[in-house]
Amino acid sequence: VPAALLFDLDETLVVEEPAAVQAFAAAAGHAARLHDLDARELAMAARAHARELWWAAPTHPYCRRVGLSSWEGLWCSFEGEHADTARLRAWAPAYRREAWRRALAQQGVDDAELAEELAARFARERRARHRVFADAEPALRELGAAHTLALVTNGAACLQREKLRSCGLREHFAVVVVAADVGAAKPDAAPFERALEQLGTRDAVMVGDSPEKDVHGAIGAGLRAVWLNRRAAGAPADLPPGVPEIATLSELAGALAALA
Ligand SMILES: [Mg+2]
Repeated sequence: VPAALLFDLDETLVVEEPAAVQAFAAAAGHAARLHDLDARELAMAARAHARELWWAAPTHPYCRRVGLSSWEGLWCSFEGEHADTARLRAWAPAYRREAWRRALAQQGVDDAELAEELAARFARERRARHRVFADAEPALRELGAAHTLALVTNGAACLQREKLRSCGLREHFAVVVVAADVGAAKPDAAPFERALEQLGTRDAVMVGDSPEKDVHGAIGAGLRAVWLNRRAAGAPADLPPGVPEIATLSELAGALAALA
């Protein structure tokens, strides 16, 4: 029995990208009620323009390094005094406005005020969609009785902690490490190393949905791993041998028993 279990957050415990897609749709739907335009197209355009602006910005290398996505940048509060975080905090309002302004312009709507409103609305709509996978809470409760639990997630420090808190899962974890805390994202070993250091053990198994970030990352850091394959995807050719695959977290206890 491993002493500690490390969990990924996004798409492992909480719904992340689909929640952002819904927030784009909700904000675009508001604009579609005011102007005669296609909400679906506007939502897609906003996401595409956000991505383009995100990649072109001088802040991008840092965001890439810590694993922060363009749509997360649309609602992250960028708290903290770290220089990269402060730079993003100053840059984000114009980024958010401009993504929606360009998306509206593409639909023939020239309305800077509405762009500003949609930027704020997106953040509100995303914050209204903190959703935990149904298998997460029961698994954490059960496994937390036998193991010390840690969270190891990529992304911005304040945003990942906000998701964790808002989802009501914070209490399950003795240790929380976000990539921005260490300046490097999984599969880099740094976030794993920080968690192990804080846990005081190297006897740990990582559980996550990403073969690259969670499985390869953990094994590269000298841990074992379990791959959570929620969508029944084909196993990548380079999935390390002996890594158990589970479809839901309810199978985790069994997979851990088989690992031992
Ligand atoms: Mg994930």
